[in-house]
This record gives sequence, structure tokens and C-alpha cells, in this order.
Amino acid sequence: MSALTPETLADCPLHSLADAGTAHRIDALKAELERLTGMAWHAGDAGPHLREQQSLLRTVLDESPDFIVLKDHEGNFLLCNKPVADFYGTTPEAMVGKHDGHFSATPEQAEFFRRNVLDVMARGHTEVVFEESTDDRSGQTRYFKSIKKPFIGDNGLPRILVIAQDITDIRRAQQQVQESERRLSYVLNATGEGVWDWDLGTNALQHNARWFELLGYAKGELESSIAAFERCVFADDLDDTRAAIQRCLDGHGPYRHEHRMQRKDGSTMWVFDRGDVVERDAEGRPLRMVGSFADVNERKVAEAMTERLAFYDPLTGLPNRRLMLDRLQQAIRTSGRSGLFGALMFIDLDNFKDLNDCNGHGTGDALLQQVGQRLRQCVRQRDTAARIGGDEFVLILEELGSSLLDTAGHAELVAAKVIDAVGQPYDIEGVAISSTPSIGIALFGAPADTADELLKRADFAMYQAKDAGRNTLRFFDPAMQEAVLSRTQWLAQLRTAIDRRELCIHLQPIVDGDRRTVGAEALVRWNHPERGLVSPADFIPLAEQSGLILAIGEQVLDAACRQLVAWSAQPANRALSISVNVSARQFHHPDFVARVLDAAERTGADPARLTLELTESVLLDDLAEVIVKMTALKARGVCFSIDDFGTGWSSLSYLKRLPLDELKIDRSFINDVLTDPNDASIVQTMLVLARSLSLEVVAEGVETAGQREFLAGHGCRLFQGWLYGRPMPAADWPIAGYGPLSSP
Ligand code: C2E
Ligand code: MG
Ligand code: MG
Repeated sequence: MSALTPETLADCPLHSLADAGTAHRIDALKAELERLTGMAWHAGDAGPHLREQQSLLRTVLDESPDFIVLKDHEGNFLLCNKPVADFYGTTPEAMVGKHDGHFSATPEQAEFFRRNVLDVMARGHTEVVFEESTDDRSGQTRYFKSIKKPFIGDNGLPRILVIAQDITDIRRAQQQVQESERRLSYVLNATGEGVWDWDLGTNALQHNARWFELLGYAKGELESSIAAFERCVFADDLDDTRAAIQRCLDGHGPYRHEHRMQRKDGSTMWVFDRGDVVERDAEGRPLRMVGSFADVNERKVAEAMTERLAFYDPLTGLPNRRLMLDRLQQAIRTSGRSGLFGALMFIDLDNFKDLNDCNGHGTGDALLQQVGQRLRQCVRQRDTAARIGGDEFVLILEELGSSLLDTAGHAELVAAKVIDAVGQPYDIEGVAISSTPSIGIALFGAPADTADELLKRADFAMYQAKDAGRNTLRFFDPAMQEAVLSRTQWLAQLRTAIDRRELCIHLQPIVDGDRRTVGAEALVRWNHPERGLVSPADFIPLAEQSGLILAIGEQVLDAACRQLVAWSAQPANRALSISVNVSARQFHHPDFVARVLDAAERTGADPARLTLELTESVLLDDLAEVIVKMTALKARGVCFSIDDFGTGWSSLSYLKRLPLDELKIDRSFINDVLTDPNDASIVQTMLVLARSLSLEVVAEGVETAGQREFLAGHGCRLFQGWLYGRPMPAADWPIAGYGPLSSP
């Protein structure tokens, strides 16, 4: 235990515990004590100077709002200031020499104070104690923060200085704040809503306990931040939620938004989230936003159930008649806008009634469910497969083709797929069941089409399929039926034509600005035994759909290579190159690179004289694969051109990434270049673009000198078109050439 000195007082932690005002007052007291160190504390035989000092100290002590007490080793008061005496309803002088038992409200309280100072003295170091005591005058409980500093008095016995700050008011205020916070959080939690408060300045976010509870977290288990909130929003709903909040921040009023949140356990729930900016700065920038969300999962689930019941067939889960009609109307409208045709298919299971009667309704239901699944697998994601009654299903196939014939072709392929899929055996509880469909098809896309009328047509066609012996398809339009039939025949003939090598190439010159021929484009023709020369427009689409394009492409490539070899022997044609059209399907074949190089090697053609014309559709697929293939061929000298440039999906980024040599501006732009200012500026832009990418440009379909002048005037250097020469059989090419693909 040490004596009370200014130094030991400075150790006292009161400064750190008391508020600034109290600290200041204690400093004053300390200064006075410093001067009086070593003096007897109680009144004694003092000289006039000392008496003056004592009276000064008395004043300082009494003026202090804190309770100041000095006690001897037995707990008797040696000194106390006026606030203490006031508290006990007596005078400081009356307290000297007495102990707490004389003044405290209860013996327990007196004993507590006595014991406490004796204990602190025994422990020998300064302690801070929080105490309650009963005010003798008011009978109220008061709270104190006391510093108890033991030291050795000048009589060699322990003493203790107690300085107590009355913190009753502070404590009451704290209690009130705590109480009102408790009530507020009770109210907030009682609403059942997750409440949040977002300070945009610091980006701090606060939540009530319910917020965490709704999401399945313990309070504080999830950090309170916007990032954590966004992690809880169901990924598919995040963009919409952000946009809704942003609209509110931008000043468009409170936000109300229903979205899904992900709970801690991974489950999702629908919430009704709302909020508003409650504080903005002078410039209107949002500073604070508050809001809450309520769990509306039950309502949403009920709504979804109601919707399912209203719009979906409970047995198969497919859209019902009502939703199907809605989608059909939508499809008709879309088709009207896009100009693309679609098909409606009415599918009825053959002999379903017999199956139901013989095997029971349970088997019938199971069959319908499996048929529903198979139908769904026959169509693309965006198509609709619906069950509209007993054993009747409908397929809505959108945007199948740009012409009725083309659309009919696609629809027929899908119908064939359906016949195959539905016709596969079913295993229903260990019993093998078989079923077949009859399909009626109506095409749509005409402005006057209505859903009801289309459904009637498809239904009618379905009955014709039944009449035709079932397990087959019929188009509503007899002409369409005819066309589809001939398409099948056409395909068979094309297959034979390839085998019989009835295809040949014609060559159309490509010239430079001085009309010097620099090369030719190889254009395929079908030398049909009865119809004569058939244009590629009449069989290439069919070949693409059926896969025959692969065989055709190889024959064309072969013929072009042989033509190059023939030209290499003619000084006039030696430097010419040949452009060959490559379809997307051909290009994406895994063996494409090998096949091109093989054709060159087999025939002895120089790959550097070969240009492959790709359409933009080739590039729509895996661009990395395209680049790998192009680079492999480029390494052997093969050149690349983008055909029909401007008609497809053009983007600068892919042009830059591809190892290209040339663009061929599509005929449609050249056609009107002199009359349509739009086309003129498109062509000019393409020429500038090509120059900036160091690509050569060929203008296709140049028919007039005027077109040529315009193009040359804007920097085009290569031309192809009737102005210079129509596609001609190789045999007609000046000097000499090879004709049919079958020739060596
Ligand atoms: P393309 O590659 O854009 O070929 C140019 C087409 O424009 C050719 O039609 C050509 O005869 C025609 N043409 C050329 N100059 C003029 C002109 O001044 N005026 C007019 N009105 N037309 C002109 P073609 O030979 O009927 O070929 C049509 C399309 O068939 C080709 O368009 C190409 O996409 C495709 N094609 C032709 N041969 C093959 C081939 O071997 N393989 C593949 N995959 N497609 C081919
Ligand atoms: Mg071409
Ligand atoms: Mg072209």
C-alpha cells in the first residue's frame, strides 16, 4: 500500500472513467491535495497560513459535486465533503469520527460500505466500484461510480480516499434509451417484417432480429452489408431488385417489389420488399434509406397453385387448353411481326379408348404422362406442348421458316420425330404398352389467322390422318400436303443425283478495277435429267436440312480443285483463284479441315489458290472452334471470305478476331446502291470498315456501269456480276476448263 501523493493519484483511473467535467474538478482537488501532502487531514493545531489553506481545501471539497470521503483503517470518517453530508442529511463536521452505521438508510447498506473499504484497504490498490445507495432524504436509490484509493496515513495506519460520482441521471437516461430501444425492437419484430436501415454514406446496413430470423440466420450470423443482402436475393431476381431500388434512389418514389430470397438452408421464399429514401443531401443525393420485407411465400405459393390449376393439366403438368390458346394467339401475333411461319400440330393417340377400357384408367393415365414427356422432348424450349383433353395433345411450333414450303418441311420433320417418339414401347408398371399418334398440321403466319380457326384446321387434318390409316400425319392444306410429298421425292432424287454425279459447278468471274479476271466463284448446279439445270436455291436448303450438303460440298470442293489444277497448266489462267461456298453444317463437321486439305492433296491443287466463302451464320457457333479451323487452313495458304456480308449477324468484334482476307458485299445492297441512299451509305461504311481491317472487298451482283462507278469511286477494287459475266459451265471459260463434277 502506498501513501497518497500526486503521483499515485495520477495513476488513479478516474480520468478515464469520469466525464471531462468531473476529470477537471478532480484535477483541481488533486492540485490542492498536492500542496497539503503530509498534512493532518483533520483539524489540529495549525498556524494561520495553514488554516487558510485548510479552509481553502474545505471550500474546494464542498464545492465539488462529487462525494469525497476520507476514512481511517476502521472505516470511520476522517473527512467528508458537503454533498456526502447532504446525502445523509447531516453536516461534514458531524460525520467526522463516525462510521456508515450512523448514517446509512439500512444496517445492510452500512455494513456493505464498511466491509467494502476495509477490503479495498486490505487489497491495497485503487479500485473502481459501481454502487447503489438509498438517499436518506428522498428515499430514492442513487447510483455512484466510486474510485477507492487506499494509502498509508501519517500515523502509519491505512486510510482510504473515496471519490464517488453520482451517475444516477446518466444511468436513468441510459436505461430509458435501452427501454425505448427494447420497445422499438419489440414493435418492429412484432410486425413480423424484416426491417433494414441503410446509411448510404458509410454503406452500413442494419437489420432487426426478425430480418435474420426470416432468412434462417441467428442475429449477426450474417454480416450486415449490401453485398450480403444481394447474396440472399435469389439470383434470377437480383437484376430486377437492384433496378427497383435504383429507381427509388433516383427519386421515383418508394419502392415496392416482390422477389425471392434464399434462406440459409438453401430454400427460397417470396418476399414483399418495400422501402424509401428518408434523407437526402442538399443536392438531392440519397443519404439514408429504410425499408422492410414481409414473407409472402404462402400467398405466392397459393397463387402459383391457383395458376397451375387454371392453366396446367394436373396429370401431365403440360399447359391446358386455355393456356395453349393464349400461347397460340401470342404466337400468331409474333409471327405477324417477324414474318416467319409457324405450325400448329393436333395429336391424337390411336386406340387410346381401347387401352383405357382394357387396362384400366391407371394405365391410361400413366401412358398420357409418358406421352406428355416425350412430346416435350420433341420440341424446342420455346415451343409449346399442351394437353387439351383426354388423349389430345397440341404442339405450337414457332418461327419455323420464312416460306410456307420451308415451314412445312420443318413441321414434317418434327411430326416424324413425334411419330417415332410416341411409337416407342412404354413400360407401365412392368407391362409393355404400345401407342401411335395421328397428327394434323396447320401452318400459321397469314394476317387473318385466328387461334380458333387454326385449331379447327389442325383437328380436321388430324381426322384425315386417321382416315389415312392412323400413325401418320396430314397437312390441312392439300397443296402443302402435295408439296411435302414432293419434298420427300425431291430428297430421294437429290440423293440419287449425288451418287450419279449429276451436280456440276459453274464459274463466275471476279474482276479487278481494270476488268482483269482475278478469279472465279464456283456455283453448284444440278443437271436434272428431266428438269434441266436446277438452281442451287431450289436444292441447297433441302440439302442443308437433310445433311446431304456434306456430300455436295465435297464434290464442289473436288471440282474446284480439279479446275485449279487444269488452270495451272494454262498461262492465262495460272494466277486465278477459285472461291467455294461452304455451308455452316459443312464447316462445323469435325473433319472439315482434313477434307479440304485432302481434296487439295488428292487433286494436286495449290491450297493458296482456294478461297472459302463462309456466311455469317457459320460464325454464330463456337467462335473459338471457328478460329482454330480457319487458322489451321490458313497455315496452308487457304484464304477466307465472308459471303453475303451485311445480311447476317455482323459484329466488328468477330471480324477483328478472325483470320479473314475478304468481305463480299451482298447483292441486295449493290442492287439499289444508286437509288437508295440507305444502301449507298451502308456500302460506303462497309468499304471503310474493310479498309480499316485491311480486308479485300468483292462487290457481288454488279449489273450496271453506274454501280461499278459508284463502287470504284468509294474504293472498291474487286467486282463480280452480270456486268462482267454470268456463271458459266467450266467448259465455256475462256481457254479451257472442266465441266461436270464427274469428269477427271
Ligand atoms: P452466293 O454465294 O452469294 O452466290 C452469288 C449468287 O449471285 C449466285 O447465284 C450468282 O449466280 C448470283 N449472281 C452473280 N452475279 C449476279 C448479278 O449480277 N445479278 C444477279 N441477279 N445475280 C447474280 P446462284 O448461283 O443461284 O447461287 C445462289 C446461292 O447458292 C449462292 O449465293 C450460295 O449461297 C449458294 N450456293 C451456290 N453454290 C453453292 C455450293 O457449292 N455450296 C453451297 N453451300 N452453297 C452454294
Ligand atoms: Mg458465294
Ligand atoms: Mg453472296
